[in-house]
Amino acid sequence: MGSRRVCLSCDSTNRVDSKECTKCGADLDAEPETERRFIDDDPALVYVDPDNRIELDRFERLDEAELACGLLRYNGIPCELSPMPLPGLPVDLILWVHNKDAELAWALLADAEREASEKNDDAA
Ligand SMILES: [Zn+2]
Repeated sequence: MGSRRVCLSCDSTNRVDSKECTKCGADLDAEPETERRFIDDDPALVYVDPDNRIELDRFERLDEAELACGLLRYNGIPCELSPMPLPGLPVDLILWVHNKDAELAWALLADAEREASEKNDDAA
C-alpha cells in the first residue's frame, strides 16, 4: 500500500484516507477488477493442436506449470498442459505450445525465470 490512493475510474490521485475520489466521486474502496491478470477463460488460448505442437517445458509442480501457462496466455500465446498426474506419482507436467509460438514462448519463460532468479539473488 502506498501513501496515496489512485482512483480506478479517472486515475486521479487521492489522499490515503479518502473514501471517495475528489475528482469524480467514485468509491475508492471498490475492489479493482484488474487483479485477475491472467486470461484463463479464452477458449482460443487453452487449446493446442496435437498435430502441430511442441513440448516447451516440463514441470514437477502444478502451480509452476500453471504460472508458466498463465504467463503465455497473458501474452496471447495458446498453451496446453498435459493431463493431471495422479497424486503422489512423479510424473512431469508437460507444457505444449504451437510450433510457431515456440520461440516467443521460450523467450517469455526465460525472461520470467531470469527475473525470478534475480529476485532470489537479492534475498540471499
Ligand atoms: Zn476519480
